[in-house]
Amino acid sequence: MILSDKLTNKSLLPNKAYINGKWVDASKSFDVINPSTQEVIASVPDMGAEETHDAIAAADGAFKDWAAKTAKERGAFLKKWYQLILDNREDLGIIMAAEQGKPVKEAIGEVLYGAEFVEWFAEEGKRAYGDVIPTTTHGSRVVTMKQPVGVCAMITPWNFPSAMITRKMPPALAAGCTVVSKPAEDTPLSAIALAVLAEEAGFPKGVINVVTTSHSSDVGKAMCESDIVRKLSFTGSTKVGKILMGQCADTMKKLSLELGGNAPFVVFGDADIDAAVKGLVAGKFRNCGQVCIAPNRIYVQDSVHDEFVEKLKAAVSDIKVGDGFDEDSDIGPLINQAGLEKVQDHVQDALDKGATVVLGGKQHKKGATFFEPTILTGMTDEMKVASDETFGPVASIFKFTDEQDAIDKANDTIYGLAAYFYTRDIGRVWRVSEAIEAGIIGANTGSTSSEVAPFGGVKHSGIGREGSKYGLDEFLEIKYVAMGGIEES
Ligand code: NAP
Repeated sequence: MILSDKLTNKSLLPNKAYINGKWVDASKSFDVINPSTQEVIASVPDMGAEETHDAIAAADGAFKDWAAKTAKERGAFLKKWYQLILDNREDLGIIMAAEQGKPVKEAIGEVLYGAEFVEWFAEEGKRAYGDVIPTTTHGSRVVTMKQPVGVCAMITPWNFPSAMITRKMPPALAAGCTVVSKPAEDTPLSAIALAVLAEEAGFPKGVINVVTTSHSSDVGKAMCESDIVRKLSFTGSTKVGKILMGQCADTMKKLSLELGGNAPFVVFGDADIDAAVKGLVAGKFRNCGQVCIAPNRIYVQDSVHDEFVEKLKAAVSDIKVGDGFDEDSDIGPLINQAGLEKVQDHVQDALDKGATVVLGGKQHKKGATFFEPTILTGMTDEMKVASDETFGPVASIFKFTDEQDAIDKANDTIYGLAAYFYTRDIGRVWRVSEAIEAGIIGANTGSTSSEVAPFGGVKHSGIGREGSKYGLDEFLEIKYVAMGGIEES
C-alpha cells in the first residue's frame, strides 16, 4: 500500500520531524509498519538527545512571545488548527488506520473526539482567572494570578495516536506554554500530520515541536533532565510513568501522568442487562481492547450471570475482525507481536487456572496480530487478568455475591483509572460511585470521556487531569501577591 495514494492532502505526510518551524531529518531513520499487513508505510527521522535539546531550545526561544499574547490571540491559532483538523478528518483517519490498525471509521471518530479538545481549550484559555482573597489583617489584600508553567514536554502512546496529543497540547498552548512532543515509535505519522496542520494554522516557529524516535528512553531522559522543561505530561504505562517521575525529580518538574488501568465493570442483579451488554461491548472491544479505560475485570452478580453471558455472546459474535481499510471491519489487529503475546498469555493463564472459553480464545485466522473477540467465564482472583490490564479483545467474567463484595473486588487493584457499574437503584448509584477508588466512574454507561470532563486516575493510574477546566490548570502555576499599605494613614 502506498499511503500517500490514499490521501487527498498529500502534504500531511512529510515524513520529517518538526523543530523550530522547520521540517528536519536525522542521520538515521526508522520504519513505520502497518500492523494489519506488516508493510512498511513510511520512514521517519530517528532522533536522539541532541535533537531533543534543539527542540527544547526552540520551545524556550518561543516561550516569552507566546506567553505574552492574550488568551484570545492564542485561542485564534487553536481555532484555525481545529478547523483544519476537521477539514482533513478523512486523511487523518486514513493515516491513523494505516499506522495503528484501527478501522478508518473508528480512526476518524478519534480525530473528531481529539479535535473537540482543541476547540474547548481555544475558549477555556480565556478563563484562567485569579482571585482576590479576603485577608486576616487590615490594610492588606491577597491577589492570585495564573501564569504558564513554561516549556512542556509531552510523551504519548500508540493506542490513540491523535487524541492523546490533542488532550495535552491545546491546554498547554492555551495557557501560554510552548511544547515538545514525542509520539510513540509505532505511530509517529498522526503526530507529524497534526504538526503540518498546526504550521498551516500559523503557530509561530518553536511553539510546537515534534521529535520522532525509536530511542524513546534517550529522548525521554533528555526531556526529564532538562531544567528548561518545567512540565512533563505523559500518557502510557505505569511502569514507564514511574521511571519518568524518578527522572524528573532532580529538576522538580510539574507532572501529569495518565497511566495504566484495570477497570472493573460491575453488573448488579437489578441492572438493565441489555444496556449493560451494549455498554460493555462498546467499551471493551473498541480499538481491539487496547484502551486504558477498557473494562478488564467484569463482575456479574450470581443472579444474572447466565443471562448476561448469553446476551454478551450473541453481541460479541457479531463483531467483525479485519483490516482497518475493509469497510466491514469493526476491530483491527493488535498493535504488534508483543501485544499479541500478552493477550495470548493472559488467556492461557486463565485457562490453566480453570477458566472456560465461551467465545474465541485464540489468534484470528487472518494471522498477523489479529485476535478473536473472546469471552472467558469462571475467572478468579489468582489469574493474571485480575491484576494486569489485558489490552486486547478479551472479556473476562468474574462472579460476585452482593454490593459490598462487588466494591471490595473492584477496589482490589493498585490501579484507579476508570470503573463502570450498572444498576437501576439510585441509592446504589451514589453508594457505589463514592466507594469505588477511581478517577472516572461510568454509572449505567460505558462511554465516559469528553473534552468537558476531567479525565485521569488515582492510585497507580497517575496524577493530574486532562480535559475540562481542570485540564487547563495542569499547565498553569498559581502566584500570589500579598499587598500591604492599603489603608489610608
Ligand atoms: P509505554 O510503553 O509506557 O509507552 C508510552 C510512551 O512512552 C511511548 O511514546 C513510548 O515510546 C514512551 N516510552 C517508553 N519507554 C520510555 C522511556 N524509558 N522513557 C521515555 N519514554 C518512554 O506504554 P504503551 O504500552 O505503549 O501504551 C499503553 C499504555 O498506556 C497502557 O498501560 C495504557 O493503559 C496506557 N494509557 C493510558 C491512558 C490514560 O489516559 N491514562 C491513555 C492511553 C493509554 P515508544 O513506544 O516509542 O517506546
